[in-house]
Formats: sequence, structure tokens, C-alpha cells
Amino acid sequence: MISTASLSQPIDIAIIGAGAAGMAAGIFAAQTRPDLSIVLLDGARTIGAKILVSGGGRCNVTNVRVTSSDFNGTHRFVERVLQRFDEQATAQWFDSLGVPLKEEPAGKLFPVTNTARTVLQALLDQITTLGVRLLPQHRVKGLTPHEQHFSIETEGETFIARRIILATGGQSLPKTGSDGYGWMIARQLGHTVTPTYPALVPLLIHDPFFHQTLSGISHEVTLMTRVDDKLVDRRTGSLLWTHFGISGPVTLDASRFWIIAHGQGHEVTLFLNFFPGQSFEDIDRWLSNAGVTSGRQTVAGLLSERLPVRVAKTMCAYINDAFPPTPQEARPQEKTKDLGTTPLGELRRSTRRTLTQALTNLSLPVIGSRGWNFAEVTAGGIPLKEVNPYSMASRKLPGLYLIGEMLDCDGRIGGFNFQWAWSTGYIAGTHAAESLT
Ligand SMILES: Cc1cc2nc3c(=O)[nH]c(=O)nc-3n(C[C@H](O)[C@H](O)[C@H](O)COP(=O)(O)OP(=O)(O)OC[C@H]3O[C@@H](n4cnc5c(N)ncnc54)[C@H](O)[C@@H]3O)c2cc1C
Repeated sequence: MISTASLSQPIDIAIIGAGAAGMAAGIFAAQTRPDLSIVLLDGARTIGAKILVSGGGRCNVTNVRVTSSDFNGTHRFVERVLQRFDEQATAQWFDSLGVPLKEEPAGKLFPVTNTARTVLQALLDQITTLGVRLLPQHRVKGLTPHEQHFSIETEGETFIARRIILATGGQSLPKTGSDGYGWMIARQLGHTVTPTYPALVPLLIHDPFFHQTLSGISHEVTLMTRVDDKLVDRRTGSLLWTHFGISGPVTLDASRFWIIAHGQGHEVTLFLNFFPGQSFEDIDRWLSNAGVTSGRQTVAGLLSERLPVRVAKTMCAYINDAFPPTPQEARPQEKTKDLGTTPLGELRRSTRRTLTQALTNLSLPVIGSRGWNFAEVTAGGIPLKEVNPYSMASRKLPGLYLIGEMLDCDGRIGGFNFQWAWSTGYIAGTHAAESLT
């Protein structure tokens, strides 16, 4: 069926995808040109599912400080986008919508109400107030460009629009409606899509390893990703051990580097340093000195001064099992297979160095990630060079705009991905509206 109302009166701006980016685009387009007809089409039955689950149900809207280095994407492009609509503009905007934000550790900004529903409701209310038409259960199956307009095919209906803003997201949490179909539409319109990978996602560790023993414990570590023996990422933060492997902010941020390299067939290893900022030499010296000054203290006792007790004991047991002393090396205490209870004064140099190596550069047997259902964002997408950063307009097809997670740009944990959605939504919405005379 063809929507006659739409045909007799073409839509000025059709936004495909009513997630964070699409809603922002709709609001800013309507504020720029209240006289335009603006429609938001979304395939989902309920709008904003991803916003509701974000930030543990509290929605980490943005961060107190957002720079291009918080993103994996062409830095100059990201800088230009942030210059147009930055974190301060975002906080002011939400304030004006009746959603004041509060700061939490790591500069994360959340609604003072502590619930993501406030954020979603404020966006939906603003959409209603501005007269933007929101059409849930309108999954777009295809877009056809014509000389002055586009036709949009949904299940059973065809709409005509003068401008299109494509905001269909990536592939993370596909049950919310973002299943990657938008990339197919973009391809049909002449865009390319780089390979896509789940990012900000927990990692799976090969069994047997000691992760299950530590399940539930989190502590500060440094994670280093080596690809073909070259260090490509090093970051420090909180790691959470789980029954399947590792999670926590530092793992989520590091995951994309392991996943992309692995997906591309490279040799990739994730290393862990239990003592951020400390080298092998620092820790070896610490253990060695302690052997002189507190020779009767146990190895696990000393490690527990700086690590959770369970981690200290587990690392000692791991060294016992993985690197048992040779019969020539073994002393009575070490033969008991309990390095943890060995007095520091009796710790052999070779065992000490093996332990130090594991504490500062432990190779984690990562076998994969928890996949799209647990990923917070998508790495890869439409290359930024195919979009104009001043307008978010397609460089391939006039009248088309591309925003949000479907682009090849992903932020780290901390509110940066929503900032990308708000900023690109603002730019595309205002530009698309201004472009219509
Ligand atoms: C569990 C989780 C927690 C997160 N927490 C945070 C956080 O606290 N802070 C943060 O900054 N980021 C967070 N993120 C990331 C953030 O939610 C996304 O980066 C952001 O929502 C992307 O916005 P978007 O509008 O580009 O895409 P989406 O939000 O994915 O929206 C795309 C929309 O397009 C619709 N759609 C798709 N295809 C079609 C089609 N063919 N026709 C019509 N409609 C279509 C979908 O139904 C969907 O509504 C989180 C993500 C997840 C999964």
C-alpha cells in the first residue's frame, strides 16, 4: 500500500531509526525549522529500548570531558563533530529538557534521577511537543533515490521524503532492533561498510584457567594487547573476573583490539599486569627485598598487601601448577605445591622471577568474546571519509545523511558513544533542516 497522505505531501525529513542519534536529529531539525514535516521511522515496537538498558539502566548520557582521543575513528573528523556539539552543549540541552545531569567517578554524567527512563521520556516528550511524527513498527526495507526526493519502502507502505537521515545503529544488542540492516540500505545507496566487530564486550577465557576461582572479584590492572608482537593498546582500569572470563571497564575498552586483530587473522595476545605502573624489575626487586627484610612472611601474605587475598593465593597456585619446580630445584616447602605458604626467605630466584613474570606480564588465553548480544557498541561501519563532518551529509548521495553508531567510529566506556549519537544527530538534523528552502 502506498501512503497517499505521504505522497500528496512529501515528508521534508525522514529519519530512519529512532535511537539516540535519530531522536536527537529529529528534535534539532524541528527546532531549526518548525514549519517542516519531520518523521521518525523505526522498526521496533517500543522505542528507546537501548537507552533504557544503557548504563545499567541509568543511562550514562555523556562525560564531563570528551575529546577525539576517547574515540576510535579519524581524529580530525571526530574533533570537528565535537566542536559543533560538545559535552557541555549536551549537558545544557538535557538540562533544558528537564533532565539535569550529575557527575560520577571517571567523569561519567548520569541523570540525577538515576534512571534512563527520564532521559527517554524527555526525548519522547520533546518529539511530541515539536510535532515530529514518530512511527514505531515501521521497518524500512529499502530506499530509492530520485532526482529531488527518495522513496522509502516499509512493510506495506511507501513514503516520499526530500531528505533522509539514516540512523539505524550498528549491530550491538540486536534484539533492540539494531541488527545491521541499515548498512545494507547504505550499500545500496553507494556507500561501503568496513568489516564490523562487537566492541565494549566481555571476553571469554579458555578453560581450564583460574578465572572461575576469582569470579566476582574486581581490581585495578593494566591490559596490553600485542598484535603480531607489536603493542597496539595499553590501558589501566578495573577488571572483573567472571565465570566465563573477564569483564569490567578495562576489558570492555580493550576488547575491540583483540577482537579486530583476531578477526583479521593476526597473532594476538592479551597480557595482564597486576601492578599498574610497575615493571618486572620493580616487582622482582620488591619480592627480593622482602625476602631479606621479612623472610618469614609468606609469598601470598606479601602479595595480599597489594592484591585481593584470593587473587594473591590464586596466582601462587597458578605458578605451582603451571611451573612446578624441577626435582633438582625443589626444596621441601616448594614440593608441597604451595608457593603461597612459602616464606619469602626461602623463595628461589627462578621461582621468584617466574612469579614476577606472571604478575607483570600474564598471557591470558582469550578465545573470543560474548558477541553481539553482550556488546555495547559496534567497531567498524560506514567509513567517516564518506561523510562530511560539517553536515554529516553523505559524500556519495545528495540529500542523504548518516549518523550515530552505523558510522565507523566507536567510543570507550564512559558516555562517549551517546555523545557521538547526540553530536552527529545535532549536526545532521540542523543541516538537513537548513538545506530545505
Ligand atoms: C547494554 C548497553 C549499554 C550501553 N550503555 C551506554 C552508556 O551508558 N553510555 C553510552 O554512551 N553508550 C552506551 N551504550 C551505547 C549506546 O547505547 C549506543 O552507542 C547508541 O545508542 C547508538 O545510538 P544510535 O541511535 O546510533 O543507534 P541505536 O540506538 O542502535 O538505534 C538505532 C535504531 O534504528 C532502528 N532500526 C534499525 N534498522 C532499522 C530499519 N531497517 N528500519 C527502521 N528502523 C531501524 C532500531 O530499531 C533502533 O531503534 C550502550 C549500549 C548497550 C547495548
